Amino acid sequence: GETIGILGGGQLGRMIALAAANLGYRCHVYAPEPDPIAADVCAAFTQGEFDDEAALAAFAEHCAVVTYEFENVAAGPLGAIMPNARLHPPARALEVAQDRVAEKTFVEALGGMPAPWAKVDSRDDLKAAVARIGAPGILKTRRDGYDGKGQWRIMQGADADTLDLADVPLIYEGFVTFAAEFSVILVRTSAGEVRFWDSAENVHKNGILDRSTVPAAQVIRDQVDAARGLAGKVADALNYVGVLTLEFFATDAGPVFNEMAPRVHNSGHWSIEGALTSQFENHVRAICGLPLGSTALAAKGVVMDNLIGDDAHDWPAILSDPANHLHLYGKAAVRPGRKMGHVTRLVL
Ligand code: ATP
Ligand code: MG
Ligand code: MG
Repeated sequence: GETIGILGGGQLGRMIALAAANLGYRCHVYAPEPDPIAADVCAAFTQGEFDDEAALAAFAEHCAVVTYEFENVAAGPLGAIMPNARLHPPARALEVAQDRVAEKTFVEALGGMPAPWAKVDSRDDLKAAVARIGAPGILKTRRDGYDGKGQWRIMQGADADTLDLADVPLIYEGFVTFAAEFSVILVRTSAGEVRFWDSAENVHKNGILDRSTVPAAQVIRDQVDAARGLAGKVADALNYVGVLTLEFFATDAGPVFNEMAPRVHNSGHWSIEGALTSQFENHVRAICGLPLGSTALAAKGVVMDNLIGDDAHDWPAILSDPANHLHLYGKAAVRPGRKMGHVTRLVL
């Protein structure tokens, strides 16, 4: 079969590659680290920097289509891919989703409602932002954040005077009082067909996703249609191809947009066993121009728990329960807060 190129070597790339293999494709990983876990399950691996245009062009020569598994890749150098291979999702989706100011501006223009926010490039900007928006709030780096990294809580106005400011572009967001969190995950084909998975209710611990549950609580189910409406508009406006995720807070005022990810998402891992077609398989189908599979539930309910850091786990107990499906990512080093695997439990 054809070769799919994957930019990035983490667990998302690994699960894309496993789904691709089932459909007869070969995968070729491109990542800066020497020993990426995605490469363990792929036919080929190139170690290279994401801004090395010559290396990206050479990599793309071997690929029919190139996709990416994380958004913190500069969009400019990816132009080197296009003469040799299709890039799905489009570079524009990366540009928008990798910058919190760009994504909020983009979503607002389509009628979406983020938390009140302000750009922060100086102490004076931060004081003005906190004066206008109020506290509590969260100061975040505009780029490169994930799993809650690069975020600082501002509990009261005085914190704006004393907090050590990172020397990178920042954004201040008002703290959203939410009933629950959820995500909308969709897949879109190049012809514009869009399908949605059931929205999971997501619970975070220390800024890291801990558990996703389907079906979600009623307060979320009441807001999913509105959230899907926005997500569909975002996908259409970007001429998107592949899986796209939007994160929301369910609030009294309706769904508040948190952020988007131009890729498969941790809150969709339940779909491997819990949906007729997983987010990974439909991503591969969409970027390869194949018909989409059904996103319908394959069980009455699904719970996905992340395995984080070196938490002790009773492996025999997990494996002995026939409802459980264990996924370990094969990461050599255990670090606090690192995602080592997940367990999906089906309610049959
Ligand atoms: P991810 O790993 O999902 O990319 P991230 O590092 O980009 O995470 P966010 O999604 O911005 O981080 O925030 C992580 C979590 O922190 C959110 O899911 C939510 O629980 C909480 N949070 C973030 N922003 C706000 C806010 N403005 N109001 C209330 N809670 C927030
Ligand atoms: Mg994020
Ligand atoms: Mg998030």
